[in-house]
Amino acid sequence: FSETLIARDPVSYRARISPDRIAARSLADGITVTYREMDERIARCASVLNELLGSSVPGATVAALGRNSIDHLVLAFACQRVNCIFVPLNWRLGAVELTDIVADCDARLLVFEDDFGPVARELGAKSGVKLLGYQGDESSLDGLIRKADPLKPLPATGNEPAILLYTSGTTGTPKGVILTRSNLFYAAYNFSVVGEVAPGAVTFCDLPFFHTIGLVAIARTTLMMGGTLIVSDRFLPERTIDCLNDEDLAVTHYFAVPQMATILRDQPGYSGERMKRLKAIFIGGAPLPPPLVEAYLADGVALVNGYGMSEAGTVLHMPIDHQAISTRHGSVGFPAPLIDVKIMDAQGQACEAGQVGELWIRGPSISSGYWKKPEQTAASFVNGWFRTGDLVRCDEDGFHIIADRLKDMYISGGENVYPAEVEAVLLSHDAVAEVAVIGVPDEKWGEVGVAFVVARNSAKVGADELINHCKSRLATYKRPARIEFLEAIPRNAAGKPLKHVLRDRATG
Ligand code: ATP
Ligand code: MG
Repeated sequence: FSETLIARDPVSYRARISPDRIAARSLADGITVTYREMDERIARCASVLNELLGSSVPGATVAALGRNSIDHLVLAFACQRVNCIFVPLNWRLGAVELTDIVADCDARLLVFEDDFGPVARELGAKSGVKLLGYQGDESSLDGLIRKADPLKPLPATGNEPAILLYTSGTTGTPKGVILTRSNLFYAAYNFSVVGEVAPGAVTFCDLPFFHTIGLVAIARTTLMMGGTLIVSDRFLPERTIDCLNDEDLAVTHYFAVPQMATILRDQPGYSGERMKRLKAIFIGGAPLPPPLVEAYLADGVALVNGYGMSEAGTVLHMPIDHQAISTRHGSVGFPAPLIDVKIMDAQGQACEAGQVGELWIRGPSISSGYWKKPEQTAASFVNGWFRTGDLVRCDEDGFHIIADRLKDMYISGGENVYPAEVEAVLLSHDAVAEVAVIGVPDEKWGEVGVAFVVARNSAKVGADELINHCKSRLATYKRPARIEFLEAIPRNAAGKPLKHVLRDRATG
């Protein structure tokens, strides 16, 4: 019975009890919608899906290719009401990568934003998927929604898939993570607690809705709690600063990745005084450069590190507490309330405090597997636990510190080296803007480190100087054997460094 209740979506509930409250505000066109309006639009959109997909509802996959918009969320919730599976596509990917994903998820319908018309038509021609524009004439989704009658949610339980979320593809090809309604409910619950998202919250998300943080954590939690969601179609640093400074908008939560936080602090309009009024700025998805955290902390701004993944939503989170952040700012804090964790060594034994091992997690927000990938599912989902593939240690006080990805760690002269630690040291040098460290085979030491460095504003800095900088800060075996300068670090669509590309480059 509780599973049936969990299947209810958060917008319909809020529309009943606070219909006139603003649910979302779109920065691209200034449109705001109340909970009543959003609920009504979702109900009409559900009716459109029901018509279009006919007997293949439920269980049909509906892919969406569009920047963040209110209609993108409307479509996501409408899918949930007719038991379709929503598949948000990463629009930063190229046509070839997208073709693979559209085929992999067996998309029955592809809804696309105007800007992506050419790619969508290419995908339609290659895969035969039915196409539907978000905006346009009477035959577009918008046109159809206007004509449709609202549809009541179809009966559902919590255990059916609601979203197929593709991973970022940092360690290989993106995997489709199956998330049930129940997973989504518990992920939103977890984030509401760690992010302290209260009913009056005004959350501003500059991250795309095709990643877990945007779609699962922020959008769902905000609507579940009856807050207002600021929908940003793209990261425009000046516009973001204006919004964060705007007293009427009164943003309480802001979300970005580390590189965005760096850009924002360099904006002429940035004001630490104004930023301080936010509950916190939430940064995650990749390691945070320590100087960035220090800079925000010095302004009195709480820059909170959160660690999560497509398979689980929020996993570890720093408490929103200036004192805790200042004393432990390399940490990602504690597990979310409904996440159980263990840290395991290579022999399958539990690690002691301070010892680095792989993080295994379990809990109701965690997916039970990948779409059509039985081997990868079997390798990562073991006896009710999910193996994150990330190396973590937990200190005596229970604070967790991410060491690196298991796949990126290398062994030099018998000692484990976590590239993230070496990267943090190099980043503390003024002339270094970006860095990525990898391990490469070496006859003498087994493996040695190579650091790829992008210099700040074409500053003149030599390899010798950087090696010297490492000398007083890192043990000999951790120091990179070689430094190579690059114009830019190759990154995937999520902005994460593609270390396998660098490995190929370093080994010729
Ligand atoms: P793939 O699984 O396809 O290789 P991915 O793991 O990058 O890609 P996501 O699910 O988007 O795909 O990202 C989750 C991963 O991002 C985590 O497993 C972790 O390695 C990294 N990550 C997330 N948050 C943080 C953080 N705060 N600090 C360090 N790393 C983080
Ligand atoms: Mg992953």
